Formats: sequence, C-alpha cells, structure tokens
Amino acid sequence: MKCSKCGKKAVIYQKYSGLYLCKEHFLDDVERKVRADMRRFRMIERNDCIAVALSGGKDSSTLLYLLKKILGHREDLEFVAISINEGIKGYREKMLENARKFASSLNVPHFVFSFKEEFGFSTDDFANAGFEQAPCSFCGVLRRKLLERKARELGATKIAIAHNLDDEAQTVLLNYLKGDFERLLRLNSRREEFIPRIKPLRSVPEKEVALFAILKNIPFSVSECPYLRKSLRFSVKKLLNEIERQHAGIKYSLVRGYERLVELLPKPAFELQRCEICGEHSASKICKACEMLLRLQKLAKKQSKDYKETVLLP
Ligand code: SF4
Ligand code: ZN
Repeated sequence: MKCSKCGKKAVIYQKYSGLYLCKEHFLDDVERKVRADMRRFRMIERNDCIAVALSGGKDSSTLLYLLKKILGHREDLEFVAISINEGIKGYREKMLENARKFASSLNVPHFVFSFKEEFGFSTDDFANAGFEQAPCSFCGVLRRKLLERKARELGATKIAIAHNLDDEAQTVLLNYLKGDFERLLRLNSRREEFIPRIKPLRSVPEKEVALFAILKNIPFSVSECPYLRKSLRFSVKKLLNEIERQHAGIKYSLVRGYERLVELLPKPAFELQRCEICGEHSASKICKACEMLLRLQKLAKKQSKDYKETVLLP
C-alpha cells in the first residue's frame, strides 16, 4: 500500500484516521501528536526539571527520546531519568540494564531506587503473602509514591510518565468499572501538594509507540511482568483491543469523552492530610502505601513468631 500523503511505501494503516503512512510521515505524525498535547496541556514551563520515569520498556524509552528530541535544545530545561526496581525476580533486572544504557546514550543522569531498600518489601514479597489483592495494586501505589518522593529529592518540577493512548483509555474504563469516580476526577487534575505528572504520549496508540521505537532503533526490552495477567487492567486491555478491532477509534473517543466529562463536572475539593506514618500528603489518615506495608509487616511478624514457636517448642 502507498502513503496517503506522498505515495511512498506505507509502513502503517491507521484505521481510525483512514490514512496509510510511509515511514517519514508516520514518524512526523507521532511527533506532531506529542507536540500538540504538550502545548494543549501546557506540560512544560520555563526552567522545568523533568524527571522521566524510565522502565526500559518501549514506551518510556520512546518518551525520553522524544522529550530530548523536542526539548533538548532548551537550555533552561533539565532532565533526569528515574527507574524503580519493584523487586520482580527475572523480570526487572534486564529492563533496568536497558534503561541505564539508554539514558547514558542520551546523556541523561539516571537513578535507580528499589522497593526493598526504601520500604523493606518487594512486589514479590507482596505476591507471596497470599493476599487477595493482585500484586499490581501494591506495585502501582508504591511506585507512584517512590517516584514522587525521589523526583522531589532530585529537585524535579515535572514527572513525565510514558502512558500511551491505550493506557489512558484503560485507566478511564477501569475507574468506571470500579465505580471510582473520585479517582476519575482526580486523573488529570493538578494539586500543588504533588509534582505535576505529564503524559506526552497520551494520544499515541500503543502499537504506534512500538513501531516508532522500532523504526528509530530505540532499544527496548519486551519481557512481560509475570503478574500482569492477574490484573483487572489486563482484562480491560483485552476488552478494549477487541472492541477497537471492530470499531476503530473507540480508545480515542473514550479518552476524549472523559475529558469533556471532567470539564463539565466541578473540580474535586477534598482536603489532603498528612499520613500518620510517613508524613506525606494523603487523602486518608494513613496513606494507601503505608496501609499495605503495615499489612506486610504484621504478616512478617506473625510468620517469624510462628516460626520461632515451631522451632522452640519441643
Ligand atoms: Fe507491577 Fe503489575 Fe506492572 Fe508487574 S504488571 S510491574 S506487578 S504494576
Ligand atoms: Zn504513608
């Protein structure tokens, strides 16, 4: 097939736009979407220090590449890359190595922080504890917390997250399904207590991020987290892909519809308090992260007591 714009050989057919695009026009299209969203949501301000959450996967590596390409010439801006090691055996190590190499190839200072060192427990510990909750709930809450904490310590004024269109659509649908409207309203709102999170890839479909990375020779790791398939997000992802196959553009309409809804509704006006344990801002007396860590600590204490009793009893 031929590119709808120039007649060269097409590398992709965008069903939602009806266009065939050649390599050059496809790469331009991705960059145009990213630039447009950065302007529309005023993602970057003068003198920003942007902390990019870098996992070593295709999305975050592409994000770092594009941010450097689009903004790298600006002398008032600074970039750092932060990777989080959640402690998932056999999965994260390789990706972290990839992240390290890629950040260094772009001359971006890179920092790695681990759950185990910061909180005493890893995602594997949580998964093995036998709780009903899927490991992703623990992992997601703690990753967010650690990223915020470390970005602040490093002096960042923005946190760039590599959420693509698929991630955004999944998040919206996920919160609808869980009936979590407060969370839905909070999704795109900024609060001065937290470092603003920006998502420059939010209008680029996941498949296109992958194609972009391949065409630009951006190295990325393709391994899948062993816990991914246990999450509700994974079911939502499958469902959305299934619908998108038959009704192209549904992911865009879900996200755009949500944005319109948020404009119509009043801004959430709840007070934040300080978590009684970690002292960080939280919607409840004890923040979600500390609540989960407490459960793990209790379990660990009980297990060591049980162990001592079995060992010591005759
Ligand atoms: Fe963590 Fe879930 Fe992502 Fe795995 S899939 S890294 S457990 S959030
Ligand atoms: Zn806390």
